[in-house]
Formats: sequence, structure tokens, C-alpha cells
Amino acid sequence: MKLSDHDLRQMDEDWLKSLPAPLLLEVSKRLLSDVKVLRDRQNQGPDNSSRPPGSQAPWEKDKRSGKGPDKARMPAAEPASEAGAPPAEPSAAVDRAPQDQAPKGQEPRRGPGKQPGAPGFGRTQKLAPTDTREHRPGHCAACGAALDAMAAAHAYTAWDEVDIGAPPAGQIGLRLTVTRHHLFDVRCSCGHTSRAVPWRAPADALWDKVELGEWRLIGPRLAGVIVLLALRMRLSRARIRELLMALFSLSVSTGLIDQTIREAGRASAPLEETLVTEIQQAAQLHVDETPWPESGTLLWLWTLVSASAVLYQIGPRSAAMLENVLEDRFHGILISDGYGVYRAWSNRLRCWPHLLRKVRGLAESTDGRIARAGAAIEAPLRTLMAAIYDARQKPPPHPLPVLYAADIERLRQLCEAHRGDAHDALRSFARELHYDWDVILRPLAEPHLPLSNNAAEQALRHWVISRRISHGTRSPAGSRAFAVLASVFETCRRRGACVWRYLGQVISAAREGSTLPALPTVGA
Ligand SMILES: [Zn+2]
Repeated sequence: MKLSDHDLRQMDEDWLKSLPAPLLLEVSKRLLSDVKVLRDRQNQGPDNSSRPPGSQAPWEKDKRSGKGPDKARMPAAEPASEAGAPPAEPSAAVDRAPQDQAPKGQEPRRGPGKQPGAPGFGRTQKLAPTDTREHRPGHCAACGAALDAMAAAHAYTAWDEVDIGAPPAGQIGLRLTVTRHHLFDVRCSCGHTSRAVPWRAPADALWDKVELGEWRLIGPRLAGVIVLLALRMRLSRARIRELLMALFSLSVSTGLIDQTIREAGRASAPLEETLVTEIQQAAQLHVDETPWPESGTLLWLWTLVSASAVLYQIGPRSAAMLENVLEDRFHGILISDGYGVYRAWSNRLRCWPHLLRKVRGLAESTDGRIARAGAAIEAPLRTLMAAIYDARQKPPPHPLPVLYAADIERLRQLCEAHRGDAHDALRSFARELHYDWDVILRPLAEPHLPLSNNAAEQALRHWVISRRISHGTRSPAGSRAFAVLASVFETCRRRGACVWRYLGQVISAAREGSTLPALPTVGA
């Protein structure tokens, strides 16, 4: 939209009559353009939504209990206000609750956390500015003429932004800055007054109640640090609030901290596409999943780990989840445990330590018969595993399947013997070996291939501890933000890059609607 409410309020018949013909044409072009946008929006139904097909997150592509797909089919919501106009009231130094900025006219839906209007949400802290920045409109909103930097102007509102400045060269530490951003009205020779407006991302059904834009109290680098504290250091929102107050005498509400983390997730969301592409092109991919509650619903946190990228997804424990990420573009080797959904991939490896843990359980059974059977299966498995490790150090004179044919045959006979066993665990282990026989034994012929799924298990371990502290996520948008931020974090860590600085650059670009900086390369 070219014209804001502020612009339209100034336009009337008398003003139009006062304009010379060339300016009148310019104004008409703007009005016409806006009318067409509005008409298209009016004509939009569920079948011709303006949402581009690629904007749906990979984990939303399957039907997930009415959450994602239905929303994605709704017509795109109206922007919160025309042309991204800022909140009407100047709110310098105000710790704004996220709900204050919720789009007007929407039916309030009670979400988790403190509700709009609830008392005591944040508190006002007067901040002394260390810098000021002026924002002036470059062109007249009505006639399009360039506005002179010297033209009459006045600041109509301002907001404060607290951020982390670089320490002076050669010094260590963090320095907080408070920038007061002044927004200006500038009067054009045509008589129209245009105003600078902070950029603001249009409403997005995938990011319900998650604002992304320039008008924020928490600057991009400080936001990066808050995400670092929450995800990497596993601090709760309340602990982060406590830390910011204790170290910097900065008062921010837990609601604003939560909003900042979600905004960082929304800002980083486009990076997921890059990560998905890298994962699809990987030569070897480790995959694992662990339970993840989202507001009382049991979902799964999935991880896909390549040599240089880590992707997390939160969603159901179904084959569709994995198929949506890999599509039919992954041609590498999948390394997993024995979970059924992985069996769709024939080019696959099994995690041997996982199998050995299971068979050790059998060998330690209090039932003597089961313990003997477990130990009997364990012995050739251990022999073969040791042979694979040895073959990596020193290539064997003959292929391992030839050298160890007797152990392989013994293992096969044991599987046959116990496939119909009355004992559940023993029978199911024998069947598992039998079913995945070729996949399990593949490293004997190719000993350089990985034997364990450690990479994926390690990529989940950190978040399993987080889950105990946070009890998962509280909404689909919260899960989305968590998964993309966790992906960016682990990928940066794997590449030796400073995560919070990179996130700061991402958030800074996203708040202005600019192109995001590329993910750091390995060794950056
Ligand atoms: Zn003008």
C-alpha cells in the first residue's frame, strides 16, 4: 500500500483542486494502485490466497491436527495498520508488552502467558539516550517528489532501542547503548505532509502475534544475546530478566523477552530453506527424534545432522515428517535407529551401539534362558564390530564378509532360532536383526561407513535437558521459533561461528525487510 491513514486524512477535494496537472497525475497513480490492491484483497478467498506456495514450513506440509495447513489456507491477514504505521502513542522508554501491538479488530484468542491489559506486565524504565537517530521520509507519499533534507520537518514520535555496542578496540566486555530514534514529518511543496514510518513485516498466519519490525526496545545484538541465554545457556525467561537487571540495571519483562525470542525465530525463518537444501544434498545424514511437548500435545523433536549442518523440526512422529524435509532429493546414506519410519530408505545404516545396548539388556536378564540367548547373539555382534574398527586402522587381506563368514552365519542362525520365541524382547530383537539384516551388516563390506548414530544423539542431548527445564514449547509459533533458532545455533557452532553476533545481523536485516546475511561458512 502506498498511502497510510495519515496520508489519506490529509487528502481532500480542495487539496486535489490546488494541484497542478503533473502532480495530480502522480497522486492519481498512487490512489489507483491502492484501489487495485484493496480490490484484489477483497476478492481473495480460501482458494486464491496470496500466500506463496513456498512459504509453508516443511513441518506444516502434512495434516497436523488442524493447526498449520488450515491456517495457511486462510486469506492473508490484513496488516496490523496501513503502511506499517507505528503505534500511535510515542512510547520512548516504554517496555511494551507484545500484546499491545496485536492487530486491531481481531478476536482476542486467549494464549498462554499473561493476557493483554493484565496489570504489572513489564514496567516503565526511563533510559538516558547515548545516541540519537533521525528517520525522515525520502519522498512525498502523495506526489512522489524527492523531499529536501532541509525542508521543514518535525519529530512526531520516537522510540528507544537498547543494544550492545562494540567495545573500544583492544578492550573486552559489553557496552550497552540506548539509541533514541526520532520519526519525522516533512512537508512537501505540494502541501502534503509525509512521515517516516518504521518498517514492519506484514501479518503472517504462521507467526501469529509475533511482531517483526524496526520499532523495538531490544536492539538486534541484545536480542541475539537473549536468544543465546535462552537456548544455549538454557535460562528461563525469568532468569534472563534477573540477569539483565543484575548486570546492566536494565528492566525488561519476561513477556518482552519471550516476544524477542519468537521475533528472532521469525527473523531467522528464511534460513531454514538454505539448511533444508544443504541437508538434502548431504552424503550422510544422521537422524533421530525425541518426545517434545507443545502446550500439552505430545509432538517430537526431530534432528537431521550432516557434516556441516543441523536441522531441527517439531512435529508428529510420522514418515511424512521426514519425507517433507527430504522430499525425493536426498540420495545419501541415512543413519538411524530401528524406528519403523526410517525403513522407507533403502540406502541406510543402523546404529550398532544402539543394537548392542538392546542385546546387553537381554544378556543381563534375570531369566537364565534369555540371558544365555542374549549373550550368544552379543558375542558375534561384538566380534564383527571390533573387526570393522580394526579394518579402518589396517585394511584386511580379504573382505570382512569373507573373513568373518562363520560369525555372520552364526548370527543368522541365532536370528532364525529366536524369531518365533515366546519372550517378547528376544523375539522382537531377533526379528529386528532379520528384517534389517543387509542394512545392519553393510559396514562389514564398507568399514569406512559410520557405525553409530552418535552425531544425531548428541544433537538432541542438549535439548533433552532443556525440555526438563522448560517442559517444551507453548504454541505452534513458539515451536517454530525454537526449531529454527536451534538449527541456526547448532549449525553455527558446528562451523565455529559466533552465534549471537550472526543472529544480531540476521535480526537487524529482517527488521528492515532486507535480505538476510548468509549462514557462516565452515571455519568462519
Ligand atoms: Zn508532494
